Amino acid sequence: MEAGRVSTNGESSACRRRADCRLCGGRALTQVLSLAPTPPANAFVPKDALAKPQARFPLDVFFCESCGHVQLLDVVDPKVLFENYVYVSGTSPVFVRHFENYAGAVVARAGLKPGGLALDIGSNDGTLLGFFQKAGMKVLGIDPARAIAADATKRGIETWADFFGAPLAQRIRAERGPAAIVTANNVFAHIDDLGGVTDGVRALLAPDGVFVFEVSYLVDVYEHTLFDTIYHEHLAYHSVGPLVRFFAAHGMEMFAAERVPSHGGSLRGYAQLRGGPHKADGSVEKLIALEKSLGLDRAEALKGFGRKIDGVRDSLRALLLDLKAKGKRIAGFGAPAKATTLMYHFGLGPDVVEFIVDDSPLKQGLYSPGLHVPVLPATAIAEQKPDYLLILAWNFARPIMEKNARFAAQGGRFIIPLPTVEVYPP
Ligand SMILES: [Zn+2]
Repeated sequence: MEAGRVSTNGESSACRRRADCRLCGGRALTQVLSLAPTPPANAFVPKDALAKPQARFPLDVFFCESCGHVQLLDVVDPKVLFENYVYVSGTSPVFVRHFENYAGAVVARAGLKPGGLALDIGSNDGTLLGFFQKAGMKVLGIDPARAIAADATKRGIETWADFFGAPLAQRIRAERGPAAIVTANNVFAHIDDLGGVTDGVRALLAPDGVFVFEVSYLVDVYEHTLFDTIYHEHLAYHSVGPLVRFFAAHGMEMFAAERVPSHGGSLRGYAQLRGGPHKADGSVEKLIALEKSLGLDRAEALKGFGRKIDGVRDSLRALLLDLKAKGKRIAGFGAPAKATTLMYHFGLGPDVVEFIVDDSPLKQGLYSPGLHVPVLPATAIAEQKPDYLLILAWNFARPIMEKNARFAAQGGRFIIPLPTVEVYPP
């Protein structure tokens, strides 16, 4: 992998800019979107660290003219990215059910048999592998987070605290034999060296083995204006067309692809070794056709996406500044990572949003990354009585409004920023 090293914000070691496409190595890269630079989206700040400056890094999105891959080229050092990371375990019932359905679908589609080896890259607490284990398979998790890996192992899902790549794949194959299935969820968007991971998968798979990955889907980002999912942890915004070429260049082939609802819309892709036994079912071509029909194989549609986002920004700012001028008080609801992108790009600091409430006790008492808006428990709504709640976790707008019906009953109003600015009650 070639990567140019340039100084950004004077932080030459914390962030480097690639000079080539992450998928194909092409160098004809067109900038299609320039969001406001931000600190790492999860870098919430404790009170005693408020005086320490937080570096901001570019959020420029590029389109590869050779393969169509949409990506960030600025790669923030993972050490910096996860320094102040507020880890929230995802073991909600919804999440567990998702993985149960996932395992069932994959066992059926790949024709997996008991006794085969299932390996999960970025296996977290081992929830997905638990379902493969129930199906009678041998399982092994790989996750660099030591505490999580040790905990999963203790609960019966053997997990190695390591980074996956070709050297580790060879070791696993030597010790455990080839894998019937390798899974990677929300890994393909997060890792800079996708070629290295894919070479490892190829080295590990049995001749009839299947690689299944799930990533946020560019079509959903585009259609549902999920621009705030663009932050430094998400290096890649995948679509099927570029991935088909990428797998082919790494001795593999995609034979199926489907849209799944996780994370506001994701892509689940199935790949096998080149010439493997699994028959293509036309789903790959169908999604490529969809991507082309939306214009996502050209830079121009994505530039239009940027103009649409800036239009939302202008109308939201006009509304909020008008409310402030009338003496209204505005608080934010929800402090997900993506709120950092939204607040920076929409220019919303503590002068507009007085405080943010969030249900996670891990974030309460901290301050938002860079802008330092205080994060408080939901009880602050009744105590401080803001006039408006700006729903920053806007993908959950409906349940948030239902849960806070009392706020509305007492005259409070909700503002939903995206996909278009809406006020409830109007
Ligand atoms: Zn490319």
